[in-house]
Amino acid sequence: MTQRTLVLLKPDAVRRGLTGEIISRIERKAGWQITALELRTLDQDTLEQHYGEHKGKPFYEPLVEFMASGPVVALIVEGERVIEGVRQLAGPTDPIAAAPGSIRGDFGVIVRENLIHASDSEESAEREVKIFFPGRA
Ligand code: UDP
Repeated sequence: MTQRTLVLLKPDAVRRGLTGEIISRIERKAGWQITALELRTLDQDTLEQHYGEHKGKPFYEPLVEFMASGPVVALIVEGERVIEGVRQLAGPTDPIAAAPGSIRGDFGVIVRENLIHASDSEESAEREVKIFFPGRA
């Protein structure tokens, strides 16, 4: 089941110099390919589209502010079961609950600054690829 997923390495990952480490974990999974990669600072409009489902929640405004606080690395990753697979590499949203060995479990503490976003379903992946890489839709 070949899929594609949209991954963001969040501003904390870029600031802390962890993008190489995280990309390396993704690259080492057999058969997965990075098919797009870009460093960019996200504007409000892009963030509103991306995190629209969370609008109105107490964490939304600080999340958007954090996500605009510095550049992110946006990637498309393609491969066998890559949607579930990158979510497994990332670990659960709360880094303290995330197992050691996962990206969030190894490097994160704060829920908001949890290093990585990865699409959670095929529908989300297609929607998010369109937001970040409209030419690849
Ligand atoms: N988030 C937060 N506080 C919360 C829940 C989520 O700051 O109580 C942030 C966190 O950065 C998370 C993002 O909002 O990654 C999106 O939340 P979601 O529930 O979609 O988690 P994810 O799919 O990223 O694990």
